[in-house]
Amino acid sequence: MSLANGRPYLAIPGPSTIPDRVLAAMHRPAPNIYAGPLHEMVAGLFPDLRAVARTDRHVAIYIGNGHAAWEAANANIFSRGDRALVVATGRFGLGWADAARRIGVDVEVMDFGRQRPADPDRLQDALRADRAHAIRAVLVTHTDTASTVRNDIAALRAAIDAAGHPALLMVDCIASLGCDRFEMDAWGVDVMIAASQKGLMTPPGLAFVWFSDKARAAARSADLRTPYWAWEPRAFAEEFYQNFCGTAPTHHLFGLREALTMLVHEEGLQAAWDRHARLARAVWAAVEAWGADGPMRLNVADPAFRSHSVTSLAITPPLGTRLRDWTETQAGVTLGIGLGMAESNDPAWHGYFRIAHMGHVNAHMTLGALAVIGAGLAALDIPHGAGALDKAAAALL
Ligand SMILES: *Cc1c(COP(=O)(O)O)cnc(C)c1O
Repeated sequence: MSLANGRPYLAIPGPSTIPDRVLAAMHRPAPNIYAGPLHEMVAGLFPDLRAVARTDRHVAIYIGNGHAAWEAANANIFSRGDRALVVATGRFGLGWADAARRIGVDVEVMDFGRQRPADPDRLQDALRADRAHAIRAVLVTHTDTASTVRNDIAALRAAIDAAGHPALLMVDCIASLGCDRFEMDAWGVDVMIAASQKGLMTPPGLAFVWFSDKARAAARSADLRTPYWAWEPRAFAEEFYQNFCGTAPTHHLFGLREALTMLVHEEGLQAAWDRHARLARAVWAAVEAWGADGPMRLNVADPAFRSHSVTSLAITPPLGTRLRDWTETQAGVTLGIGLGMAESNDPAWHGYFRIAHMGHVNAHMTLGALAVIGAGLAALDIPHGAGALDKAAAALL
């Protein structure tokens, strides 16, 4: 007997739950790519993509995942040997650093560990020390999906300005866009990247790069830019095919159209941010209650720097893996592995896991996942404090 039969819930931080409406929008015959309604539909995506990023500047769409977005941003900004300063707060910041290094960028990493946000004062000091202004850009993740630290992007921008440094600010919002407040123009962000499969509720396969006028001007001299990655023809296409440097990813675009309608026009960004904030608080409240009398704890201590879309947890190894196995096989809820907290061949690896609450999720899904975790704790005789679900419910209201 298994209690897992029924609709499964994939509560991992990407790919996220795809709304049935998005799936249905993709279920149609291939459209004409040379003329007709597809062209109008795609033209309408750009204003909504700007709205999601809170910018009135530029956006390019790529066929690709988050790694493609990293490479697209890097290729348009850097020349071989240019300096980049990566402000890392977890595995994903280090991943972007690695992606830049491997195409020939001279990368310096300021590593803030896996539990704390980047310190704007230290960034300011590092930029002041760069008297020759060799650093071309500062790269940072908004939410690091592994540690689930969320950085204060406006404060990092202020640090760059306070240092009087001309570096561009490039931000990875792959895990946060559509979930956590992000204000590209108001926060002075030059380049922002995202992908379709997290807060944007669309299958993996689309990557996006938004860029300011300053970044656009900088890109003209970047020698790592190749014809496929160049953002200018995609963002300012004269012919339709230039939007995608070839055949359009037609069905992904139909899905994205529906997702943006739901997010931007029906729910509204502010309401989506509020929903994610409430769901995150419910998760935190439950974990704090369990941890009051047991080994479970939140990875990020300060709520001001916790992601609203995914929560990283620590527990005595190997209980993290045992709990994940139980929720998946016994209750149909798949939780995220603990990424980047320990090496996968280290026994400590089994002491981390993540609960995603990003995108198309609501109160019953998050409370359901929490109730299942509570059942797993009981079934596996893992010590835990009482009252977690009541506290989660209270945090939602
Ligand atoms: C998911 C994610 C990535 C990588 O995306 P892929 O689609 O797996 O290539 C990069 N950065 C962040 C912050 C992410 O959440």
